[in-house]
Amino acid sequence: MSDRSGFEPELGGDLRQNALFVDETVCIGCGHCAHTASSTFFLEEDYGRARVIAQDGDEEDLVQEAIDTCPVDCIAWVNYNDLNKLEEARKHQIIQNLAIQKKPRVLGSKK
Ligand code: SF4
Repeated sequence: MSDRSGFEPELGGDLRQNALFVDETVCIGCGHCAHTASSTFFLEEDYGRARVIAQDGDEEDLVQEAIDTCPVDCIAWVNYNDLNKLEEARKHQIIQNLAIQKKPRVLGSKK
């Protein structure tokens, strides 16, 4: 019996049998992926982290370039069947807003 669920996209190419996912707890919001593959990635408004907007938004080589050049290596091809679980888990992640700055520490102080 096949392990297919019937929900897999048939987008062509070996990698496209997988899905793209950004680990937003690691992403630093530099925006490089959204510039490289702008129909695939965008920066979400709440925390300024990258997220996949369309699994088939750009050519595979452009997407792969975005993955390969991400400075913190937080974009991955995942099993398509795991995507829903990963996206559900993302809703409960604690992500620090990049705009929040801690009060600067004065050198020599103990706080
Ligand atoms: S290139 Fe990487 S670190 Fe930069 S926004 Fe995209 S996923 Fe985040």
